[in-house]
Amino acid sequence: MNMSKIAFVGLGNMGGPMAANLVRAGHEVYVFYLSEAALKQAVDAGAIAAPSAKEAAKGADIMITMLPAGIQVTSVLVTGDALLDEIAKSCLVIDCSTIDAGSARELSKAAADRGIEFVDAPVSGGTAGAAAGTLAFMVGGSTDGFAKAQPILACMGKNIFHAGDAGAGQVAKACNNMLLAIHMAGTAEALNMGVNNGLDPKVLSEIMLNSSGRNWSLEMYNPVPGVQKAVPSSNDYQGGFMIDLMCKDLGLAMDASQASRSPVPMGSAARGLFNLHQSQGNGVLDFSSVYKLYQKR
Ligand code: NAD
Repeated sequence: MNMSKIAFVGLGNMGGPMAANLVRAGHEVYVFYLSEAALKQAVDAGAIAAPSAKEAAKGADIMITMLPAGIQVTSVLVTGDALLDEIAKSCLVIDCSTIDAGSARELSKAAADRGIEFVDAPVSGGTAGAAAGTLAFMVGGSTDGFAKAQPILACMGKNIFHAGDAGAGQVAKACNNMLLAIHMAGTAEALNMGVNNGLDPKVLSEIMLNSSGRNWSLEMYNPVPGVQKAVPSSNDYQGGFMIDLMCKDLGLAMDASQASRSPVPMGSAARGLFNLHQSQGNGVLDFSSVYKLYQKR
């Protein structure tokens, strides 16, 4: 594979290990100072420190953003650092952040107005997937953009899907995480009812795993402490996927439902539950901690 010069913006919990995997794959990865600790970690992993975002972007073949929300991505690319005005027309911009589909479409247009290709490529797989290089990418953009992004994304993930045109990756992500919230809440609800009626949650889980209630939350991510090893529920709900992020994603799902006038009664109910749990001071716990909301005190 050809070595590319990659500017990477957003060295957080996800971006840090993703940038390290790009270095490992032989790319030249440029990062810049925002958080000293994050910069040091990236440089220790082999990335090259640039004095500013603009310097990092200069001459890049690929620019990747992994930022909290649409407002930061828009600031970095258009309104603040305005990196779309710094990069060459040949530079492909890949936004891996989870943002609203509307912003992704606007960013795609802002890039196209400058003759630049942009794809939205949100991920699934969490920090463990980012570290292991096994993320799933859901890509929105042109066929050409997808083809160019594919080998780069393959350095950081396993399953790479072309969801459709600009914004389609973000829509796919919103649909997936809304469904995840629904089956996690449903799984917690059913398990709690069983426990309150005298069942052992391990036995009930085994029964439902071999019956029609089987689902990913039950199989891979049991929300009841002690049923499975190496899941957040068995570690005081530490690590994993934070309630704060799930609430953010459910907000994006509600935006997508409103924009398309799609009824989402189950998604709305799940959003209400996760928001209530968040408001009780549980924002930094893993999302399977929604089980606690059901438990008798
Ligand atoms: P994070 O808060 O750890 O990282 C975001 C990084 O962006 C931080 O290092 C911050 O310093 C940096 N940043 C913010 N504004 C910036 C700016 N203007 N210029 C440069 N850097 C800036 O978040 P994360 O957990 O890495 O998540 C990133 C994105 O990935 C989010 O959209 C999130 O929803 C999504 N995501 C996260 C997970 C997960 O499990 N953490 C899973 C899937 C998707």
